[in-house]
Amino acid sequence: MDVPGERRKVTLRCSFCSTLNQVDMAKAAERPRCGKCRKPILLDRPLRISEEDFDRSVRQAGVPVLVDFYADWCAPCRMMAPLMDQIAGEHVGRVLVVKVDTDRAPSVAGALGIQSIPTVILFSHGREVRRSVGFDSQTIKKMALEAL
Ligand SMILES: [Zn+2]
Repeated sequence: MDVPGERRKVTLRCSFCSTLNQVDMAKAAERPRCGKCRKPILLDRPLRISEEDFDRSVRQAGVPVLVDFYADWCAPCRMMAPLMDQIAGEHVGRVLVVKVDTDRAPSVAGALGIQSIPTVILFSHGREVRRSVGFDSQTIKKMALEAL
């Protein structure tokens, strides 16, 4: 539900030139572009978030964020990819879908107590509201709907 004047801004790093952009998720359908290099910031697929950007892009986001914690060597994590693509495409502008490589984000993974992957966590207003461990597509789809 849209609240008038509600802030739905998210800070995201451009995947082409690494510039930080403030993106208005309410205008996600208008295909936002990077303020510097003008390349598109694609919100209809999971965005890779680094450890450095986790707080500003996930915890300070103006929309709920679904985070897929994965690693390249993890086979079940690969099964997660099409599902996260689908959720990102269906809820563009309302839920931010991101992925975090736990091998490259040991502090974030440690602080959240992530012990096995894939783990998917829903954040709202900076706080964890729900967590799913392992590939459990029904639970993850439910989490995405809860976020709306
Ligand atoms: Zn750029």
